[in-house]
Amino acid sequence: MIYDHILIRYGELSLKGKNRKAFTNQLHENVRNQLREFPLIQINSSRDRMLITLNGEDPTEIISICQRIFGIHSLSLAIKAENDLVAIKEAALFALKDEKDVQTFKVSVRRANKDFPIPSQELNAIIGEHLLKNTSNITVDVHQPDLEVNIDIRKQHTFITSARYPGAGGLPVGTSGKSLLLLSGGIDSPVAGYLAMRRGVKIEAIHFHSPPYTSEGAKEKVLDLTRKLSEFGHDINVHVVPFTAIQEKIHREIPFGYSMTVMRRMMLKISEIVASRLDILSITTGESLGQVASQTMESMHAINAVTSYPVLRPLIMMDKSEIIKIAEEIGTYPISIRPFDDCCTIFVPNSPKTKPKKDKVEYYESHLDLTKELADLLDNIEVIKVSNSDQEDAPFNHLF
Ligand code: ATP
Ligand code: MG
Repeated sequence: MIYDHILIRYGELSLKGKNRKAFTNQLHENVRNQLREFPLIQINSSRDRMLITLNGEDPTEIISICQRIFGIHSLSLAIKAENDLVAIKEAALFALKDEKDVQTFKVSVRRANKDFPIPSQELNAIIGEHLLKNTSNITVDVHQPDLEVNIDIRKQHTFITSARYPGAGGLPVGTSGKSLLLLSGGIDSPVAGYLAMRRGVKIEAIHFHSPPYTSEGAKEKVLDLTRKLSEFGHDINVHVVPFTAIQEKIHREIPFGYSMTVMRRMMLKISEIVASRLDILSITTGESLGQVASQTMESMHAINAVTSYPVLRPLIMMDKSEIIKIAEEIGTYPISIRPFDDCCTIFVPNSPKTKPKKDKVEYYESHLDLTKELADLLDNIEVIKVSNSDQEDAPFNHLF
C-alpha cells in the first residue's frame, strides 16, 4: 500500500461567502502554479479542503513546496479507500505503521456519508481494536496521542490520513491586492515582503541602484533575495531604478544633514509614480521604528508626506532580533548578510538629522530641480522577472 493523495486543509476558517470563494479559487491557482513541474498530479478543491491526486508523483517534494504556499493550514498524506470496512481497516493500519516513534494513538472517524452502515463511535472502537491487535507496544490515548488516525467517510470514498505537516498559514497570495515592495539588499525589506505575501498581498519589487557606487553584485543580491521570496507565491518583477544622477545632485545641493531625508522622499515619490503606472495601490517597506535615523517618528513624518499612498510597514514595531529570526526561517538571511553596499549607505552623511523638520525639507527641495533627472530615470528603469523555477533571470522590456 502507498499514499496516493495529499489532503490540504485551509487556514482562516472564519472566511465567509464571496471571500471564501475568492480564497479557495486563488489558493487552487497558486497551488497549481507552484506545482507546475509535476505534470501527473490532479488538484481538486472544495469549500473546506483541497485534494491532490499523486498519480505516481513523489509526495516528498510536493509537500515541501506546499508548506510554503500561504493559505494552507496543514497537510497530510492520504489513502483513498473504498467505503468498505476491510479496506478502511487495512489503510488505517498502514497509516499508523508508516509513522516512526509512535507510542500512543487515537482514531477519529468523521462520517459525512450517513449511508455508511456503522456509526462513528462504533467504527472508532472497531478500527482502534484492529490497530491494537496488529501492532505491539502501542496504546490508545484519547487526550494527547502521538498520532491521530483520521477516517473521513465521504459519499464515494473514504480518506485515511495520519501525520499532519504544518502549512505556512496566512491568506493565498493574490487575495489582498498588490503592493510595490522597496527592496534593498538588507535584512529587513525581504522579511517585510514575506509578511505582506503571507497576508495575501501580491508584490512587485523596486530597487534603487547607483552604479558605479553600487556594484553589479549588489543587484545580483537583490535578485537572489527576490528569487527566495518568489518561492512563497509567484514570479516577481523587480524594477531596477538608476538612481545615481539624482543622488549626486542631492549630495551636491542639499545641506548635509538633510540629504538623507530628501533622498528618502525621492525614493518614495518615485515608488509612487511606478506603482501608479502599474495600477498598484500601496507601497511596502522594511522600516522598523527607531532602527536608524530615517526611521524615527520625525523622519517618517517628513518622508511620508510626499505620498498619499498607503505605506505598509509590516516590521514597524518589531525588534531586530525578531526580524532576523524570520529572515533565518525563510532563508533570506544568508543572502542579506553578503557584503555589498546599498545606495542609501553610500551618500549618507555620518550624522544625518534624526529629527528633520518637514518645512525645512520642503524649503531645501524648492531650490532643487530634478525634472530632467527624473524624466531620464523613468525612461531607464530595467524590469527583471524573477521566477523560482528559472535558473536564469529573464529580462524583458519595461511596460511604459
Ligand atoms: P533593509 O534591511 O531592508 O535594507 P534597513 O534597516 O537597512 O533595511 P534602511 O537602509 O534605512 O533600513 O532602509 C529602510 C527601508 O527603505 C528598507 O527596508 C527598504 O524598504 C527601503 N530601501 C532602502 N534602500 C533601498 C534600495 N536601495 N532600494 C529600494 N528600497 C530601499
Ligand atoms: Mg538597508
